Amino acid sequence: MESPFFERRGGRLHVEDVPLEDLAALHGTPTYVYSRAALVEAWQRFTSGLAGRDALVCYAMKANSNLAILSTFARLGAGFDIVSGGELRRVLAAGGDPRKTIFSGVGKTAQEIGFALAQGIRCFNVESASELECIDHVAREAGKVAPISLRVNPDVDARTHPYISTGLKENKFGVDFDAALDLYRRATRLRGVHIAGIDCHIGSQLSDPAPLYEALDRMLSLVDALAAEGIGIEHLDLGGGLGVRYRDENVPDPADYMREVFHRVGSRKLQLMFEPGRNLVANAGLLLTRVITLKPATRNFAVVDAAMNDLLRPSLYSAWHAIVQVGSRVAPLAPWDIVGPVCESADFLGKERQLALAEGDLLAVMSAGAYGMVMASNYNSRPRAAEVMVNGRSMDVVRERESFESLYALEHIPG
Ligand SMILES: *Cc1c(COP(=O)(O)O)cnc(C)c1O
Repeated sequence: MESPFFERRGGRLHVEDVPLEDLAALHGTPTYVYSRAALVEAWQRFTSGLAGRDALVCYAMKANSNLAILSTFARLGAGFDIVSGGELRRVLAAGGDPRKTIFSGVGKTAQEIGFALAQGIRCFNVESASELECIDHVAREAGKVAPISLRVNPDVDARTHPYISTGLKENKFGVDFDAALDLYRRATRLRGVHIAGIDCHIGSQLSDPAPLYEALDRMLSLVDALAAEGIGIEHLDLGGGLGVRYRDENVPDPADYMREVFHRVGSRKLQLMFEPGRNLVANAGLLLTRVITLKPATRNFAVVDAAMNDLLRPSLYSAWHAIVQVGSRVAPLAPWDIVGPVCESADFLGKERQLALAEGDLLAVMSAGAYGMVMASNYNSRPRAAEVMVNGRSMDVVRERESFESLYALEHIPG
């Protein structure tokens, strides 16, 4: 899993021009390391098919919401897809544009809606009839009109891991396809909302784009049905979900995907919106960790200083991440289970990896830029990892390692 940004030079793994051994010596482990150039390249690859088109790309920041990442994308012209008031505060703190921000999520509170409205966000992606009424109410109280889009559940199978599949009837997300038309009709009668668009998001890490096209066709049929009733739709938001290569998956090229999307949209006058998360960040980051102990037994365990509290994906979804040695190999190759110190058998980062390990060695868990640090916890009273962004030869700490004091700084022992 090497790329121009994560390259072995003279036997030592580098991120851009920084040897990871130097980075570990300076900043310790476990540490998330991001390549700024890889982020920019991912953005350019995603948007390459959009030149000359009326389109807005809103980074789904739940994939990685570090301010440095947000600021990088904001400067490239990105909008943001948020799922909470906390995420909107991050957009603002990073210098992002609220007018390019769209608000998704099944449980927006009236308080969050009011705050987003006050900031002048681009659109609310509405997930239920009751939420539509709540937005209308909050907007009228504030003397405003809220731009809305209905998140329609197209009932297509994304054929991905069930935990990251969202477009089936049985999922909690969106408004049923069959109920959408009626809800749009109701929205036309609400003075606090303005119908701006329609959206869907069927799941994550899709390697086959066919379900995305199926969903698109269903959305377009709704757009046409609405137009026939005189309900104009200004934008079509196709959500995120484009998969990335963790191992050897065949993943869609974003430019090919865009070409097919525009082909299917045809002559309809619609602004297109996309909400990529993983696609922009997964392969721009790694988790750097050090081997604490080797425990060869029936299975060979290498206990490292990163754990499921730092990177949950292997434990949560049996996700596979490449794990590579940072230095040159000295010991003989053997199959190792790479596990953390957390007291759970589910605490592993990789199983049966052919590695030549010695205690004290550094390992890089690759493709950890998406759904890594954002899912980190303090389980087992482990301070969360530091985050470092590399840019050429420079490395900036973009989030400090948590201190032990911070672990219980908010706690109180009664009288
Ligand atoms: C999570 C999410 C995304 C991003 O999904 P990726 O698979 O990371 O691209 C986009 N839109 C919504 C509504 C989401 O919940």
